[in-house]
Amino acid sequence: MPTCPRCHHLVEAQAIACPICHTVLKAHGHPGIPLYRATGAEPLCNTCVYHADDTCNFPQRPNAQECTLYFNAQMQQLAKPVKRQVSIALWVKRHAGWLILVGLFVIVMLNALRTN
Ligand code: SF4
Ligand SMILES: [Zn+2]
Repeated sequence: MPTCPRCHHLVEAQAIACPICHTVLKAHGHPGIPLYRATGAEPLCNTCVYHADDTCNFPQRPNAQECTLYFNAQMQQLAKPVKRQVSIALWVKRHAGWLILVGLFVIVMLNALRTN
């Protein structure tokens, strides 16, 4: 369950405002969209992916204290899928059942062709 950025009270994930301090938690007019807030004097843009890759064209950049599109650069790093190296042997081991079925099907088809 998320917490209120101001009073740190637990709030429902869908809550539009904190029930204790009434801090607005969702974007105005878009109750499903979280509104991110800077916790200190540092603007959100300093840690935002869209500032780092220079794709943001919001007028409040680079000094946004509130933003709906903020995406923490560290979270992007965590969200990146870990590349797994799957060897051919591992793939064969995982799909052994299908390989056996395909092999049997090929043998049956070859036998059927030979007998005709
Ligand atoms: S999306 Fe928001 S927080 Fe990110 S760079 Fe643009 S204005 Fe700043
Ligand atoms: Zn609060």
